[in-house]
Amino acid sequence: MNGGAELDPKDRILRLRRILDQAGIAYYALDAPVMSDAEYDSLIAELRELEAAHPELGSDSSPTRRVGAPPVRTFDEVRHATSMLSLDNVFSTGEFEAWLARLGRQVGREPELFFELKIDGLALALRYEEGILTSAATRGDGTVGEDVTANALSVADIPPRIATKEPVVEVRGELYMSKRAFADLNASELGGRAPFANPRNAAAGSLRQKDPAVTRRRNLSFFAYQLEVGPPIDRHHEALDYLASLGFAIEPHARVVDGEGALAALAELQATRHGFEYEIDGAVVKADRIGDRVAAGSTARAPRWAIAYKFPPEEQTTVLEGIEVSIGKSGKVTPFALFSPVRVSGSVVSRATLHNFDQLSAKDVRVGDTVVIRKAGDVIPEVLHPVIELRPESASAYVPPEACPRCGSALVRVAGEVDVFCPNRFCPDQLIQRLIHFGSRDALDIDGLGEQRAAQMVEMGLVTIPSDLYRLGSEELSKLPGVKEKTLARLAAGIEASKTKPLARLIFALAIDGVGMQVAEIVAPVLGSLWALSSIEASELEALDGIGPVIAGSLARFRSDEYGARLLEGLREAGVGGGQPVAAEPSGSELAGLTFVITGTLPGLSRNQAAAMIADHGGRVAGSISAKTSYLLAGDSGGSKLKRAEELGVPVIGMDGLARMLAGGSLPSE
Ligand code: NAD
Repeated sequence: MNGGAELDPKDRILRLRRILDQAGIAYYALDAPVMSDAEYDSLIAELRELEAAHPELGSDSSPTRRVGAPPVRTFDEVRHATSMLSLDNVFSTGEFEAWLARLGRQVGREPELFFELKIDGLALALRYEEGILTSAATRGDGTVGEDVTANALSVADIPPRIATKEPVVEVRGELYMSKRAFADLNASELGGRAPFANPRNAAAGSLRQKDPAVTRRRNLSFFAYQLEVGPPIDRHHEALDYLASLGFAIEPHARVVDGEGALAALAELQATRHGFEYEIDGAVVKADRIGDRVAAGSTARAPRWAIAYKFPPEEQTTVLEGIEVSIGKSGKVTPFALFSPVRVSGSVVSRATLHNFDQLSAKDVRVGDTVVIRKAGDVIPEVLHPVIELRPESASAYVPPEACPRCGSALVRVAGEVDVFCPNRFCPDQLIQRLIHFGSRDALDIDGLGEQRAAQMVEMGLVTIPSDLYRLGSEELSKLPGVKEKTLARLAAGIEASKTKPLARLIFALAIDGVGMQVAEIVAPVLGSLWALSSIEASELEALDGIGPVIAGSLARFRSDEYGARLLEGLREAGVGGGQPVAAEPSGSELAGLTFVITGTLPGLSRNQAAAMIADHGGRVAGSISAKTSYLLAGDSGGSKLKRAEELGVPVIGMDGLARMLAGGSLPSE
């Protein structure tokens, strides 16, 4: 769908034809596709565009002008009385409407239409002479197909004889494998063969067996969709009624529609497409009057009176224009791809993550490569793989950087892990990301501090650490380029308002490794104020439910790295995080100087609530018992900590004991 990487269109056209020819043989003749349908469709669309732009390079043997592939020698050949064509595709309602308008012009009025599901199987032509099935043939290259009569006779939906006086009846339709039969087949005897990629390939592979008994076991099905030769009937829907009366299965959603009805049916199909017992890859809309079909005619490849409406592709090919890296707020270095814009699953994308350098090297995507893009979970674009056959000679393997492209620090990789980090906490790219996070909605929600503003502040040296925000007066803020006065006022107000946000959000805003909102909400009540971060021990944090040793360590270490220490200091100077209402002052000091360890299930409140209550009254909570522990607060099923307390002579109290201490300050007797 996109301009090729090579500048020479002739070279690109020849290469595209070569790989599409190979893919066509693998798909049509061997039933073992070497690429996804979306990838094939995208490359063929590119080839079609190039051929249209360079008519002098056109060729009748191009895969854009051919139908299917020639028959395989295993079977006898059948020459079709009338060609078996392919279908032209549209991928959007706009394209569909354009097709409909064209058809209207060809037939001279608004045509009556017929809507059918596009079953993903293979076309079969069944010829009955004097009511007896004499030939079943695949489409092949449209002119000559394969004689699969013996195998077709083993398909339950294909009647071996029909009740008709017509000397010849030819029925065309789709041979397919239901989803259930496909699942059963791939789950059962594989007999050394690889599983089939999809029901379409399974149907084709099962029909083209030497032994009809194998075909019979595979449970194939057949829907008739065309009376090619038979009694004169001038409406398609009546022809289908006639076929049904002869015993053929007709897909039950097929119906007469007008233009609007067709659009409504297509819209509905988007939602219901996965709910059928058989795979479909879209819908086919056809002229219902046979006279209209004659008037519209056909090209060498497809009729003009029918159109296949296919679902928007979930994969697309494009040309990789660059590989760059981004540096996250934790310093993580992530490679990403830049490519010519393409429409995938409904939106235009031009960049996609490459996740990490290991994945990038495993995929071996190179600048200049034609690559396949998909939207993972239909949202985040990702690069699946390069199309090696289209790789330009000049494309060289990507070499990951050894130094941070922004600040030049040597990149660090923890042994055994995939991620690579820039260790410099003051790296401007990291700072920008941390500043964005600081002001983000769930953190301090600073209105007006978006990506662009954060980048400007760091680039201009106005902010070297997020707490610098609080030092920016209106004079500094007004230096920001291209910012209106109203926006500046909003930004200043947002910065001011952020000072009084709840402590949990402030802790989250610090972007401490591993500390998300959930963790921040657990530790905030225990810390009481931001300053507690300057003295709290990892063991105290580990005592909290939901805090493991890694996060506890990360929180406790924060103050001792230069960045964390400066940030805490900066916030303290700005008066953020210390006073009301960010941090509630302890409401009492009854427990001052006492250290508690909590164990077991406490009646009426969680361990974290108990810890917050102790902190609120001036006490401390630790994770493990030592001789310095003042009390073990024990609920039900205390376990090993109870034993340890006994050994060390640490008094054990329950919630009632704690309540008494809080009420009267008197120590319990136990
Ligand atoms: P097509 O499948 O897009 O459309 C024509 C076919 O649709 C007919 O021959 C018929 O078999 C079928 N069909 C299903 N329901 C029908 C209905 N109700 N009325 C009429 N026809 C109906 O065209 P094609 O030329 O057979 O194949 C092109 C498709 O095959 C493309 O989607 C392409 O992705 C795929 N393909 C894939 C590869 C690969 O490597 N993955 C290679 C070649 C082709």
